[in-house]
Amino acid sequence: MKLKNNKFKKARGGYSRLLQISCRKCNSVICMYQKYGPGDLRRMYLDRIIDPQVLVARKDFTCQKDHLLGVKIIWEKENRPAFRLFVDSVNKKIVKFEDYEDIMLVKITEERLKTKEKLLTHKQVWGN
Ligand SMILES: [Zn+2]
Repeated sequence: MKLKNNKFKKARGGYSRLLQISCRKCNSVICMYQKYGPGDLRRMYLDRIIDPQVLVARKDFTCQKDHLLGVKIIWEKENRPAFRLFVDSVNKKIVKFEDYEDIMLVKITEERLKTKEKLLTHKQVWGN
């Protein structure tokens, strides 16, 4: 059973990239994002956002200079809060995970905890 589970996990989420997300209009850095699986970045799940430089508690997702990049949604398939990104609103730069591994693992853990708190706040505000 366990082996099967691991295999499934590997097939589904074994491939992840660390992306640095920045505003396409002004180039300001927004956050780091841990993306699983192939394909284009259309949504950013809140619990995969790392080291945000902007507010993620609001409905509007904007850069530091107030360019609107996307809006918050609840991704129905998984009932997870996410930002739906507008087309061509952000630049993505792949960061070598190895270079960041030590720092990022700590940060990811910290951010997950923080995001959990944010999600609780989010639930209170949005009633969902
Ligand atoms: Zn901007």
